[in-house]
Formats: sequence, C-alpha cells, structure tokens
Amino acid sequence: MNTAPKITCRDTTWLVSESQDRPLTESESRALEQHIAECPLCSKASVQFQVLFRQLRTYFDREASNGDPS
Ligand SMILES: [Zn+2]
Repeated sequence: MNTAPKITCRDTTWLVSESQDRPLTESESRALEQHIAECPLCSKASVQFQVLFRQLRTYFDREASNGDPS
C-alpha cells in the first residue's frame, strides 16, 4: 500500500481546481483522494465542488456544441 504525501486543505482546493484544467498525476490524485477521505471539511467541500463542476460542464457543453471528443 503506497501512502500518498500529506497535503493540506488549501492544496486540496488547489488540486481540485487544477484537475479541471489538466489531468492530475497519479500521486496528486492519490493525495487528493486520501485527504478527502480523512478530512471531514474537504469531504464535505468536495461534494459541493462536484456540483459546481457539473454545472460548469453543463454550461460549457451547451456553449461548445462542436467540442472535440476526449
Ligand atoms: Zn481538508
């Protein structure tokens, strides 16, 4: 079992927003998942992030009707 590096709540927020622009590395996403699993604050916040990102994606999907497949 690999242990991801400890990250802070601020790092978590940064990584979540970063993940919208580029794929996270394996160690980044592992650290993120681990922090969210251990931190009640971020676990709560991550639900809100997902709702927000889903709304953003819906908005951009509507705007970019000729988006490339990826
Ligand atoms: Zn946290």
